[in-house]
Amino acid sequence: MNNELETWKKAGKLAGETREFGKEIIKENVNFLDVARKIEDFIIKKGGKPGFPVQISINDIAAHYTPLPEDTSIFKKGDIVKLDLGVHIDGYIGDTALTIEVGTNKNQDLIKASKEALNEAIKLCKPGVKVCEIGEVVSSVISSFGFNPIKNLSGHKVDRYILHSYISIPNFNNNDKTILKEGMTIAIEPFASTGIGLVKEGKPSSNYRLHNPKPVRDIITREILNFIQKEFVTLPFAKRYLTEKFSMPKVNFALSNLEKQGILYQYPQLPEKQEGCLVSQHEHTIYINDPPIVLTKI
Ligand code: MN
Ligand code: MN
Repeated sequence: MNNELETWKKAGKLAGETREFGKEIIKENVNFLDVARKIEDFIIKKGGKPGFPVQISINDIAAHYTPLPEDTSIFKKGDIVKLDLGVHIDGYIGDTALTIEVGTNKNQDLIKASKEALNEAIKLCKPGVKVCEIGEVVSSVISSFGFNPIKNLSGHKVDRYILHSYISIPNFNNNDKTILKEGMTIAIEPFASTGIGLVKEGKPSSNYRLHNPKPVRDIITREILNFIQKEFVTLPFAKRYLTEKFSMPKVNFALSNLEKQGILYQYPQLPEKQEGCLVSQHEHTIYINDPPIVLTKI
């Protein structure tokens, strides 16, 4: 049990260090793909593995954008960038995020709203707290800044090799009286929006995870499926991870087969329903304890 906590702490600490590294390299005119690669290289060099692909979601996109294999997007002045990343060590995952405004200071209140909501929520993370109490604090802090929490996105319990485990941590009081117990690991991720506080399903994101594994006949598809199972187990991965190993036509062919057969699930991008609005996010992974242990703090 104690060994488990030690590994959670190691993964969390590296996730925190990686977040701070990432914060420094996001700048105007820099390429998304370069940033994602540098961050993922940093994780590997320090002895971890990405718990999921680095997510770089801009402005009204709340979540689930990872660079494509040949992505040419660059950061522009004024962009509100959500950098969300994960580190896993032996399946123990630290999940953390922050928001940066590129080259301007016009939306610092929006950024502060999700950050303060997270800090206030963390104070409640002791054994016996109900998840709706966390949601209540998140939503009241964000509302006090004049923004809306995003209600259809939530934090989550984290288990070994399971990024989104069965308990949801809401961003508003949803009346869920599930009680958190000592030794649970959860991620809290408040989103503050200048829009209506709801996301919709957008374009495909090129983030995938194994959904319903079953045998496949085709040799190319089988080769890629074997690689996915060995390399990522049940954790999310990006299409670009595959094109580093296999040719683009092979990857396209296998992914489309695997998705059609329900073996893989592809996450959609999650833009706010209100076009043109701005969204900020902050996230930490926390070990329920008295006092709470913020695993991804540095
Ligand atoms: Mn995250
Ligand atoms: Mn998360």
